[in-house]
Amino acid sequence: MIDSTAPIPVMNDDDLIASTRELARKSNGVEAELLLYLGEIDARKIYRERASPSMIAFCMREFNFSEGAAAYRIHVARFARELPAILDALRSGAVHLSGLRVLVPHLNAENHQRVLAQAAGKSKREIEELAAALSPQPPAPDIVRKLPNRELVLMAQTAAAASRPSQNERRPVVAPLSADTFKIEFTASRATHDKLRRAQDLLRHRIPNGNLAQVFDKALDVLIAKVLKERFAVGRKGRRASAPITSASHEAPDPMKREVYERDEGRCAFVAEDGTRCPETGFLEIDHIDGFARTHVHDRDRSRLLCRTHNQLSAEQLYGREFMERLRQERKEAKAAARPPPSQAPEALLPTRPGACAQQQLF
Ligand SMILES: [Zn+2]
Repeated sequence: MIDSTAPIPVMNDDDLIASTRELARKSNGVEAELLLYLGEIDARKIYRERASPSMIAFCMREFNFSEGAAAYRIHVARFARELPAILDALRSGAVHLSGLRVLVPHLNAENHQRVLAQAAGKSKREIEELAAALSPQPPAPDIVRKLPNRELVLMAQTAAAASRPSQNERRPVVAPLSADTFKIEFTASRATHDKLRRAQDLLRHRIPNGNLAQVFDKALDVLIAKVLKERFAVGRKGRRASAPITSASHEAPDPMKREVYERDEGRCAFVAEDGTRCPETGFLEIDHIDGFARTHVHDRDRSRLLCRTHNQLSAEQLYGREFMERLRQERKEAKAAARPPPSQAPEALLPTRPGACAQQQLF
């Protein structure tokens, strides 16, 4: 039984989640209702009589929406007037507003029920891929462009859009163009540019035209194999892990690292009470279930791959939250004392459980 009347700080975890789920459900309903009303105002063009040059300007002034929020709400609301199922998908929580914003231009009377069903429960990135599959964009030539003032490179596997880089937009782009192709665009330093040219030249015998996508694909194969070997001894020759061994070093033996990584399929092995497994494949570390600081034993059957978050949770459960927080604080202070000026200390994000080893992180 949910006790949603209890004050938030003392609510138990299950009630807190259930109450939040209920709020999210209501919020979806309110958002769908809002779009219905906005669509009607827009259709009647009431904003003109209210001295606004556009529906967006009207929403900004009248409802204090940001320009972005006004634009995408109106965008979705207009399509929803033709296809009311769009609002049903929003109301039921099946497809979020960010996803609908991407999807609606690709919907029509024939396909919308099927496509909305396909988009249900998907992330925005997955919905972008779905949209790209519905309206594939043609590939375009590679582009390496020197930008004004700085030594920059824009790399594009495909897409005509890349031929006119916006002066304001310098963020990396990974955008699906069709079911199997992506546009990848980023800014690189002069040094990276020179390395790219060198790699193209070295590969001329296999990739005579220096195709960027092929050069990067080969480079990533080499990088992934190298990092897997360094972090988890994957691909390194050696015996299989045998019996558990006692060691002074927290660094697990190569065969054990490799077997744990392969057994857990390169993914965090944390499983919640309801059976859900953590999907994280980055920030992975080898976790000693019984705590290496306690046992000083490397045992593949008592080890698992955990992401940073779950490694920290596991350490808190093993050593106590207070102890871990004190340890983190001490390490943070020690780091700050060692290096006074830095505005950002990425090391502060590294795992701080006893014996945790940064070398065992994958990325
Ligand atoms: Zn995890």
